[in-house]
Amino acid sequence: MTRTPTIVDSLPKAETHLHLEGSIRPETAVELAARHEVEITPEAVAGRYAYSNFAGFNEAFKWVTSFLRDPDDYRLVMQRLADELIRQNVVYAEITISVGVMLRRMQNVEANFQAIVETATSVPFRRLRTAFIFDAARQFGADAAMEVARWAAKLQKSGVIAFGMGGDELAFPAANFRPAFDYARSEGLRIVCHAGEIGGPEAVRDAIEILGAERIGHGIAVMRDSALAESFANRKVVLENCLTSNLCTGALARQTGKTDATLADHPLRKFLDRGLVVTLSTDDPAMFGTDLLTEYSKAASLGLSKDQLLGLAEHSFSAAFLPPLDKRKYLDDFRAASKSAH
Ligand SMILES: [Zn+2]
Repeated sequence: MTRTPTIVDSLPKAETHLHLEGSIRPETAVELAARHEVEITPEAVAGRYAYSNFAGFNEAFKWVTSFLRDPDDYRLVMQRLADELIRQNVVYAEITISVGVMLRRMQNVEANFQAIVETATSVPFRRLRTAFIFDAARQFGADAAMEVARWAAKLQKSGVIAFGMGGDELAFPAANFRPAFDYARSEGLRIVCHAGEIGGPEAVRDAIEILGAERIGHGIAVMRDSALAESFANRKVVLENCLTSNLCTGALARQTGKTDATLADHPLRKFLDRGLVVTLSTDDPAMFGTDLLTEYSKAASLGLSKDQLLGLAEHSFSAAFLPPLDKRKYLDDFRAASKSAH
């Protein structure tokens, strides 16, 4: 992976839209498969990780997660992800776990999560702090989403901070999931939702107005509705942009109506120019062959000013679901480091 370094490289960073299962690199997938007596090669994994649309990506996600079968598997992938985050000087990460998929496979959510948390907290806190988002898969329906919300509430004391929903955005309307989101909020969980990735601007509006999302996963459909963009800028709605992801899943091609959409078509810079609050993340870094440093390089290549680039990195801390005093500390550290990097 060749990339141009940016001012953000050496700074302490936060990442808030990152799927644990999407961080499984080909070598780790080979290792996991071998544990379950399935023989695959890194090349075969790379083949599976090549797709041109969202359905293809979902298939690959289903395939690679089929090798996550017990707590030790989750321990391994969490350890690899922690190493990767520390390498990039990510000091705080909110990691999404597809509990909807775990439940579908009738796994022990509590045991898996305990293994994940034990591994994550074995890393010194000052080097990497983690929190977790339990994610329902939209295509599994409202009852399954409610079950995920219940597990999120139950394991809140062990490190779950938010409830969210991903998967096939076109599967069911937002209104079906309102009870699950209302329940999660009433239990004190924060709320996130993937919307406007392959769905239209109305999906983003619904995620906020019906489900009460505090941050929107992707939200690139907002580029198609300037009234919505303006209202989001005024209300400081947070859009979690993931550049490489939107190219690999065909989401950008779909939103722009251009089958040959490239990075230059991504709305990130326009969003920032219009005053929208945007964060930058990798989404499923291994499945898209990227990492956070690369995402910042790609953002810089869109012509962002140095201040815009730094603002993007700072938003990841200000939009994080951290307790206020801790957030202040991270923001102070980030600002001090960026001043000396100037
Ligand atoms: Zn995502």
